[in-house]
Amino acid sequence: MAILNSIAKMKTEMTQWRKYLHTIPELGFKEFKTSEFICNKLDEWGISYEKNIAKTGIVAQITGNKGNSDNAIGLRADIDALPIQEKNSFEHKSTNEGVSHKCGHDGHTTLLLGAAKYLSENPDFNGKVNLIFQPAEEGGGGADVMIKEGLLEKYPMSKVFGMHNWPETPIGKFSICSGPIMAAVNTVQIKVKGKGGHAAMPHQAIDPIIVSSQIISALQTISSRTLDPLDNIVLSITQFHAGTTHNVIPDEVFLEGTLRTLNEKTKKIAIDRINEISSNIAKSFSATASVYIEKGYPYTHNSENETKIAADVAAKIVGEDNVIRNMKPVMGSEDFSFMLNKVPGSYICIGQGDSKHKIAVHNAEYDFNDEILPIGSSYWVELVKHLLK
Ligand SMILES: [Zn+2]
Ligand SMILES: [Zn+2]
Repeated sequence: MAILNSIAKMKTEMTQWRKYLHTIPELGFKEFKTSEFICNKLDEWGISYEKNIAKTGIVAQITGNKGNSDNAIGLRADIDALPIQEKNSFEHKSTNEGVSHKCGHDGHTTLLLGAAKYLSENPDFNGKVNLIFQPAEEGGGGADVMIKEGLLEKYPMSKVFGMHNWPETPIGKFSICSGPIMAAVNTVQIKVKGKGGHAAMPHQAIDPIIVSSQIISALQTISSRTLDPLDNIVLSITQFHAGTTHNVIPDEVFLEGTLRTLNEKTKKIAIDRINEISSNIAKSFSATASVYIEKGYPYTHNSENETKIAADVAAKIVGEDNVIRNMKPVMGSEDFSFMLNKVPGSYICIGQGDSKHKIAVHNAEYDFNDEILPIGSSYWVELVKHLLK
């Protein structure tokens, strides 16, 4: 493996940062201590930065000394944690009740800090690097907020890159694909209105529970009968709220779920069908159904040229055999998509799976694998050296 020597030497130090960050997990837009830790490190290394972008976000900038090119690229790390109670009992366990780093953003922050330290000590590149420490990936859309607060006007960049640890991929490998790598997510809410009554006299009522059950079953035909079998879609109804007791038919039912798709056409067909199925089934029972679709994160779309660059750089570190260039997209979502919608770039997955780190992200027993710190930071540094020659 072609890890840069001075980065390999930083592994112990980086592991300490990562473990410290793991002890102080904070939710989106409340990453105060995390932000302070990042700023302290940047101060220590004499790197200039702007803080309080999207409340707790930071952009640090390092200018190379190998020329006076204005070309700039962006490297992004997410810094927030999840509302999950830590189940691990190791020394660096979360000290924040009910909150923990179960997506490895403590590791992502550390990977970018490692690259920052290296690049500030070795600025032998031509151009500028914007190091984006982004809050609130887990639901708050921090990337979108940073953009709305002027990230791309204040720090113009020709390309932007993101990275996520991947427990499913073995350590020492990277995986990536061109095109959509993660899904667009929409929340689906359906309110079914019937007519309440005595449970012993159902003929005098319009039972919204029966209607809703039929709607839920029929919605599954969108993937199995409406769409092309090769289209990718997830439609899961995950909430069903109705009723108060055993002998009353309720007036209404509230359903909620998630719709995930990898392209606009599939999404449009699915939303149209959700509306048609819900209202027509309800109508056939003299009930009504109103559908509300709430827009979530868009598709995470890796542009072709930047994906090739990212994969080539990864191959330089771990070897061509260890780069999966055509990984299957996943139906999860990612707010880095907002940045990729504005600037060409690519999002890469860094393998972290070994015997102790196979647990999936968002599981209460998950932990970031510190063995990948030198690999990930080397990737960032090599990307800068490759693009800002
Ligand atoms: Zn996550
Ligand atoms: Zn994550």
